[in-house]
Amino acid sequence: MTFFPLFHNTSSLKALLIGGGIVAKRRAKSLIAAGVACDVIATAVSDDLTQIIKSSGGSVTIGAYASDESMLGYSLILALTNDRTTNQQVAIDAKAMGLLVNVADYPNEGNVIFGATIDRSPMTIAINNGGASPVLSSLLRQQLEQFVPQAYGHLASLVGGYRQQVKDALPNTADRSIFWHKVLQGPVAEAVFSGKQDEAEKLLKNHLKKVDKGLDKLMSSGEVFLIGAGPGDPDLLTIRAFRLLQKADVVLYDALVSDGVMALVPESVERVYVGKRRANHSVPQTGINQLLVDYAKQGKRVARLKGGDPFIFGRGGEEIETLAEQHIPFQVVPGITAASGCSAYSGIPLTHRDYAQSVRFVTGQLRDGSVNLAWSELVVEGQTLVFYMGLNGLRHICGQLIAHGMDKKMPVALIEKGTTQDQRVLVSDLLGLPDIIESEQVMSPSLFLVGRVVELHDKLAWFTSSRDV
Ligand code: SAH
Repeated sequence: MTFFPLFHNTSSLKALLIGGGIVAKRRAKSLIAAGVACDVIATAVSDDLTQIIKSSGGSVTIGAYASDESMLGYSLILALTNDRTTNQQVAIDAKAMGLLVNVADYPNEGNVIFGATIDRSPMTIAINNGGASPVLSSLLRQQLEQFVPQAYGHLASLVGGYRQQVKDALPNTADRSIFWHKVLQGPVAEAVFSGKQDEAEKLLKNHLKKVDKGLDKLMSSGEVFLIGAGPGDPDLLTIRAFRLLQKADVVLYDALVSDGVMALVPESVERVYVGKRRANHSVPQTGINQLLVDYAKQGKRVARLKGGDPFIFGRGGEEIETLAEQHIPFQVVPGITAASGCSAYSGIPLTHRDYAQSVRFVTGQLRDGSVNLAWSELVVEGQTLVFYMGLNGLRHICGQLIAHGMDKKMPVALIEKGTTQDQRVLVSDLLGLPDIIESEQVMSPSLFLVGRVVELHDKLAWFTSSRDV
């Protein structure tokens, strides 16, 4: 290892930037943002840089680097001029004075280099490759960014405040390590990541109370993630959904969750199919609610994967009601609902200033299996209707919309298996669609969109592999 990572307390650093160009500006910005005091010496300094330095309380001196005297009082020197000999001299002088010095583009001429950083203060991750390739460091940083939730810093701050208390409660190092692993990988951390800071603190305090009764009590607390799996294309999963799937012990999923999404669940995770088909529930809803509770009570991290978004015709609300009653920690991860996915992948915007000012998601099937909707509310100009679960009642729905005054030539698009490799888009109108879907043998899941926005499909769907009728 040529460069050993050390983390400097920014309040004890005072930096002198020698040079006033673009790199100086970039460095000044990031150093000042981190709390480092910066001054500049350069023969020419851009207005931008002057402004940045002055507004942070620093000084700008116009002139060439003349002698090591100008370095007195600084702990970090940056050689950033476009004159190589000057930069070399700066480095020699700074090293002779025992200072930290960085030379732009020549990592080995100075004694410190800058890394690519991920800032989740107070948590910081720095990457370097000895100056071989800053771009490579930056690419690695981009990859890591996805796996480090934004709220990691909040988590660090929260647990930092309890470090001493936990030390007092658990004097044994091994016990303490178990405790912190449980906290940092369990519901406390997840509560922070999902923005519930107060909830997290409450859980942490509860954990501490349980410590008195023995660590095994603490080990037995499970949690549930109610995750929206999106409409099919696994790329549409959110980063949070993906992360939680990686740490789940068991996944409960149903028919709408695509094979592509299931392929992202690690092999080691137990899979439980709780699929429902219309009027033929393989596990009744109350059974699913209970299963979630049972697994969580065994101390498991349970991922409940649901197609689309859990709160849009997904009965997610019913599932978490039971969890709340049983005081089981849970979080809901939103997903891309079928209407959004199908709209994007078929080139039919749900709203458009010229065609639709509102959009309405409607279920085509009521609890008792009937289709009895507030038809007159649906027949409104400038509105897009999206019918979920309406395939069986499609003829009836189209007929009723016409009967309640909608133009029988109103464009309609039926989207089958939206966002998947097998997506099909059938475009017709209210009058024609019912016959078309019979001859085309449309499969589930399918939804249909009613409204003038469907006219945009021809223009915008060039990128899809859809087939039109
Ligand atoms: N929670 C889900 C909807 C569940 S209701 C969501 O937010 O998307 C199930 C209905 O959603 C299906 O009957 C169908 O109408 C629609 N649907 C789900 N996935 C779909 C897909 N990939 N393509 C078309 N329709 C879909």
